[in-house]
Amino acid sequence: MSNASQKTMRAAMFHGAKDIRIEEQQVPTPKDGQVLVKVAWCGICGTDGPILCPDKPHPITGCSLPVCLGHEFSGIVAQVGPNVKGDWKEGDRVVIEAVISCGECYACKRGCNNACAKLGFVGLSGLGGGLAEYFASPEQYLHRLPDNVSLKSGAMCEPLAVAIHAVRRAGFQKGMTALVLGAGPIGIFITKVLIAQGASMVICSEPSSTRRDKARLAGAHHMFSPLESDIVAEVRKLTGSDLGVDIAFEAAANEHALVAAIKSVKTRGTVLNVSVWSREPKIPMNELVFSEKAILGASCYRDDHPAVMDALSSGSIKLEDFITATIPLDKLVDGGFRELLENNEQHVKILVSPSGELNQPF
Ligand SMILES: [Zn+2]
Ligand SMILES: [Zn+2]
Repeated sequence: MSNASQKTMRAAMFHGAKDIRIEEQQVPTPKDGQVLVKVAWCGICGTDGPILCPDKPHPITGCSLPVCLGHEFSGIVAQVGPNVKGDWKEGDRVVIEAVISCGECYACKRGCNNACAKLGFVGLSGLGGGLAEYFASPEQYLHRLPDNVSLKSGAMCEPLAVAIHAVRRAGFQKGMTALVLGAGPIGIFITKVLIAQGASMVICSEPSSTRRDKARLAGAHHMFSPLESDIVAEVRKLTGSDLGVDIAFEAAANEHALVAAIKSVKTRGTVLNVSVWSREPKIPMNELVFSEKAILGASCYRDDHPAVMDALSSGSIKLEDFITATIPLDKLVDGGFRELLENNEQHVKILVSPSGELNQPF
């Protein structure tokens, strides 16, 4: 595609809370070191919008509202820009690693770009996003999608990378037991990863019965509603003389869930928090002291995409069962964001086709 710069495309722009507009824009021309990607599929995520979008210029990108949404996407290389070093060519199938980092702060200098002091994201912080027909990607954000992995699965690499990073950061090892609190998309994907990596038991706590069914589909061995059962007592019953699981994953951003997580891990067990909190929870500190338990945080991903590609390519993790709707960009607000607000429990991942083609090649 040689004359992309003369063409226009449609893009979903976030102007503010409840104000997402589908706008006509110029297709970007790839600059030095950039590759133009025609987006195939882009997932919708709970963080799309007000929590992370900049209301003042982002310290790295300099962009403020409106910004193009979409950070979970796959696509096909349409044009390779000047001075691209890697072996990219038209037609290559790719996914985008969405973290934008400064490269200069304490965290970045130590290889923890996912904990950058100025952290930003493609599709939230300016620079374009996946809810548009084209994205001009710096080449370092690209990962090659294995030939046997579909573009639809490719669009779920981002949340799968979050889950794989959380499991790795928690120090999980084959044969361990785990409790997952919250069966939203991240809780479900964490469950999939735990099962694929050989957990001996995965227990899930989730108030919605529809979501508990999804956790069962992901391979969880036991499901409980925290509204009907005493989670800590159930975990103790199931883990026998261990009196708790090795690791509890908090993916609910709920104080009761976090307290249950802390009480449900065994002596010297680990609580891994992957939630983003809007309120500070109160926690039983003495439980940490006297049972030598640890709480860790995990944020997005770093060096996790190779493991994501291996898991999808080998078939140890299959995600297509968790696509609950596919929609064209025109339906983004009604069929996407509103649907997620009103029928949240029915959905794991809604995938959007920015070009509007719902029957795309593998
Ligand atoms: Zn996301
Ligand atoms: Zn940094």
